[in-house]
Amino acid sequence: MYQAPVKDLLFVLGEQLHVGQLSTTRHFAEFSADLCESVLSEAERFATGVLEPLNAIGDRDGAKWTPQGVRTAPGFVAAYQQYVADGWPLLAVEAAEGGQGAPLALAIAVEEIWFAANMAFILCPQLGRGAVEALLMAGTPELKARFLPKMISGEWTGTMNLTEPQAGSDLAAVRTRAARDGTAWRIFGQKIFITYGEHDMAENIVHLVLARIDGAPPGVKGLSLFVVPRFMPEGGAPNDVRCVSIEHKLGIHGSPTCVLAYGDQQGAVGYLVGEENHGLEYMFVMMNSARLSVGVQGIGLSARAYQQALSWARTRVQGKPMAAVRAAGSEAAPTIIQHPDVKRLLLMMKSNVEAMRALALYAALQQDLGAALSDELARGQAQARADLLIPIVKGWSTEQVNEVASAAVQVHGGMGYIEETGVAQTLRDARITAIYEGTTAIQANDLIGRKLLRDGGASMNAQLDTMQAMLKADAAQGAAAADVQAMNSAVSAALEQLRALSAQLVKRGQPAPVEAFAVSVPYLMLCGFVIGGALLVQGANIAASRLAAGSTDVTFMRAKLQTARFYCAHWLARARGLADIVANGAASVGSAEHELL
Ligand SMILES: Cc1cc2nc3c(=O)[nH]c(=O)nc-3n(C[C@H](O)[C@H](O)[C@H](O)COP(=O)(O)OP(=O)(O)OC[C@H]3O[C@@H](n4cnc5c(N)ncnc54)[C@H](O)[C@@H]3O)c2cc1C
Repeated sequence: MYQAPVKDLLFVLGEQLHVGQLSTTRHFAEFSADLCESVLSEAERFATGVLEPLNAIGDRDGAKWTPQGVRTAPGFVAAYQQYVADGWPLLAVEAAEGGQGAPLALAIAVEEIWFAANMAFILCPQLGRGAVEALLMAGTPELKARFLPKMISGEWTGTMNLTEPQAGSDLAAVRTRAARDGTAWRIFGQKIFITYGEHDMAENIVHLVLARIDGAPPGVKGLSLFVVPRFMPEGGAPNDVRCVSIEHKLGIHGSPTCVLAYGDQQGAVGYLVGEENHGLEYMFVMMNSARLSVGVQGIGLSARAYQQALSWARTRVQGKPMAAVRAAGSEAAPTIIQHPDVKRLLLMMKSNVEAMRALALYAALQQDLGAALSDELARGQAQARADLLIPIVKGWSTEQVNEVASAAVQVHGGMGYIEETGVAQTLRDARITAIYEGTTAIQANDLIGRKLLRDGGASMNAQLDTMQAMLKADAAQGAAAADVQAMNSAVSAALEQLRALSAQLVKRGQPAPVEAFAVSVPYLMLCGFVIGGALLVQGANIAASRLAAGSTDVTFMRAKLQTARFYCAHWLARARGLADIVANGAASVGSAEHELL
């Protein structure tokens, strides 16, 4: 049974990131650090009471297409009604828009719990939040008045409609058309893979659709964004959009993945969001927070996988513990957690989860500061940090969840491979996270192309400076025992290696981008391991200080130290391997002939 990691989330948010600082800004004046504890406890209650019990049901029964519409798995409709009645959709919506105005850092912590408990279910409201953001940013007052109140309350859900059969990673190939019809538009075309494109959990679905206005330029510069309701807001007449089928897929069976046909008859009525031909820009704003959320899906499922493996390892009896056999010739039945390799696997999972969690919450906080700080320069710097880190959070956490969930299956042995224990579902559900919302390669292209090469490495250097300064400040607090000092040195060296490689990539990549793009994914992974590691080690410094100051929370603090110690020995060693690939691996890719593959 999944248990929300409320304590670690509070440690990172409160002791490490000091989210309470946000309450000094006008933007988050209503927020206080104390709120985190009560919100996370409530989120845990909802997760364990409502979401978790439906997780296996959603997987087993799945969503079903019927001629009358898509039906979600038993229990999903009631759970969604409760989600809305409890006011959860309002959590991170600004107070001025009728929401609770919580910072993204807190919303992301809540999402981690929910994705872990039932990712297939939470995808629906997560997409709704993205749609609300796009409308808030670019909708006209009239459009906002017609759609936003019910979308914000969660009575209506939202979707993102980008993908078409010929337009996946490359949205320049979108063919869905929009033709003017008075003050509105008529939409024609087919979208595929649309998450919760149709379902029975809410009374209306508001699609945000990328389409090309007749006569618009080709490529991404000719894409516009439209709001297309499933049912018209006034009177509820059905719009000309229908779900033709849903996909059979590896995981997230509870989440319907829909093929949507627009305009089989007279054209689906749509309303332009913002200006013509600026659709992708608006989508990008929405994508930033969606990408962070998908990274958090990877973290939630990693945490779930770790917990599944831990509880299995604590009860499964197999083999003899080496030390005990040597010491006493004992035949006592040990649990597998005592075997060095099982311990290694669990430490590998736990340390990776905690580093990914710290990085995602840190990135979310930068986004909050980027919105809230009064000083323009500081605001810009915080936003630049968020922009740099979001592709790293997305790419690294969603690649790593595959490794973490696979390790969890390994800890279960054969019982992991069969469905009964539930860990196989975690592995299957996790696989999509590195694919949708931009594959890992697309995140890495963004990191290298938009973030690193474009500013000649300035944001990356600033980020690395911040990390070094943070480590120095922690070390200066004086709590650092030799053990912690060794961690500080290890992570500091890794940060400097990343700085040198980033400079080298800029030098090689500006004249010959293929040199950089050939190793962009290893570079992204390296960034994740190193920056995530720096944050984990920062947590270890804090834990060491607390212990030195006589903290009564000895078990938790000692565990933080143990986890960081393992991370430095194992994951930073992986980072050095990746560094070698970034430094020397491009030529063997660039010179390779694809005909020989
Ligand atoms: C379950 C599910 C839910 C989804 N939900 C939604 C949704 O709600 N809304 C929506 O619009 N879409 C959704 N999608 C679509 C999803 O976003 C796309 O599948 C994804 O963007 C990848 O596009 P593609 O499948 O066409 O793969 P392709 O673009 O064909 O990519 C195939 C491979 O080529 C690589 N590749 C492609 N271009 C490049 C490049 N420039 N550089 C390096 N490598 C490259 C990719 O990394 C990948 O490994 C969903 C998909 C699934 C499976």
